[in-house]
Amino acid sequence: MILRARRAILPRPIPSEAAPPDMSAAPLSVAIVGAGPAGFYAADAFLRRGTNCRIDVIDRLPTPFGLVRAGVAPDHQSTKNVTRAFDRTLQRPEVRFVGNVALGETVSGAELAELYDAVVLTFGAQTPRTLGIPGEDREGVCDATGFVNWYNAVPGAPDLSRRVAVEAAVVVGNGNVALDIARLLAKTPDELADGDIDPAAAAAIGAAPLRDVYVVGRRGPLEASFTAPELSEFGRLAEAAPVVSPADLPEDAAAESAGKRRNLRILRDYAAARAAAEARPARVRFLFRASPAEVLGEGGGGRMTGARLERNRVAGGRAVGTGETFAIAAGLLVSAIGYRATDGIAGIPVDRRGTVANADGRVRPGLYVAGWARRGPTGVIGTNRNDARGVVDRVLADGIAPGKPGRDGLDALLRARGARPVDYAGWRRIDAAETAAARGLSGARPRVKMTRVADMLAAAEA
Ligand code: NAP
Repeated sequence: MILRARRAILPRPIPSEAAPPDMSAAPLSVAIVGAGPAGFYAADAFLRRGTNCRIDVIDRLPTPFGLVRAGVAPDHQSTKNVTRAFDRTLQRPEVRFVGNVALGETVSGAELAELYDAVVLTFGAQTPRTLGIPGEDREGVCDATGFVNWYNAVPGAPDLSRRVAVEAAVVVGNGNVALDIARLLAKTPDELADGDIDPAAAAAIGAAPLRDVYVVGRRGPLEASFTAPELSEFGRLAEAAPVVSPADLPEDAAAESAGKRRNLRILRDYAAARAAAEARPARVRFLFRASPAEVLGEGGGGRMTGARLERNRVAGGRAVGTGETFAIAAGLLVSAIGYRATDGIAGIPVDRRGTVANADGRVRPGLYVAGWARRGPTGVIGTNRNDARGVVDRVLADGIAPGKPGRDGLDALLRARGARPVDYAGWRRIDAAETAAARGLSGARPRVKMTRVADMLAAAEA
């Protein structure tokens, strides 16, 4: 998932006017937990402010780049160019990558707080929200985290190859994640060949007899949170075409922003081409003002056969059920309805929304949070730049005295635990192996991602 490169904000080179750090003083030991966009923008902000610091960017996976590697859709390769800037940050002498170290498993929050002068949590938001409807536990239902992790080859992802072998699928949600999932399901093998989708996922999607993908929004087109560039991609699919009912579309005058007007224009074009779309081999059907009420299926807990949806009206900006329901036959339902940051890591307070409880980025002196873990899963990759800078300014304003053991202490702890951290050189070996594996394959595939941590460690330690 996530944003086009043109909207991502790359960290610029550290400005020369930054005050030179006082190298006679002890450096501030900083742990940044989560090697995704917010983590790199935070590291960049410390350097930009001229801080005399040693930064460890820690990640649970042996690979860096978080959401850019694991979330951005595999057919949105240009968005991933932002990793070049992140890579430059990783090569700074003050910065170190420490992969394969999981907060709450390899090392606890309390241990990091003892070891580092400042800890900045940037682990994003990946815990899926649930629909809370009957039948949600049926085979055939999965959440966006599992589905996106699957096609992006994230270690530990469920194998959904058999699940996508259906004629109809429902994707619940009207955000860009829902559009990513619907678009990939609707693509042909040729269309998938140029990205870094997991080859097994591409093969399963390519072989699936999918004819109808329903994108279900609980409110109307004006309230949808997807954006025009992503919506317009459905008009350029090789075999599938978007189907929109003209009756669902309000007057242009009702759109309050240029973005909403652009969405409406695209949807209107789709509605005008509806008859031709119906004749295509596959369709992406946009259903507005409908909420899933039940996942239908065989017997108690058996495989899903469809979904019962309730029609809504929008009142006061909210979806209100009308009591009228209808059913769709489908063998797959993916809910893409947003995420929580975490359901709980010992010692880290979580608020009602599922984000880390904080005041302007400070959890408590010495412990901070930035990015999606702080403000929830909103905005584009570049949104995290200002977010992280603000939080780093708060860290520096707290005037924390350096003096904790920092990376030496972490290394000793990891050694004592028999952990196998992956450093920058290790990541580069994984990177080289993944790019080598793509050579000679069809399309412009940039890499074949490893799906198992054991394989990554073998490559990193080779
Ligand atoms: P999102 O934009 O917040 O969309 C979540 C969707 O789920 C909304 O349509 C929401 O409807 C719906 N929803 C929530 N609870 C629901 C329920 N119980 N039943 C039915 N529908 C429900 O979140 P996202 O799609 O996960 O995206 C997260 C962030 O990543 C966003 O900022 C997004 O723009 C960004 N992203 C960008 C790209 C890109 O630029 N290519 C790609 C992927 C993601 P309501 O509006 O009614 O709450």
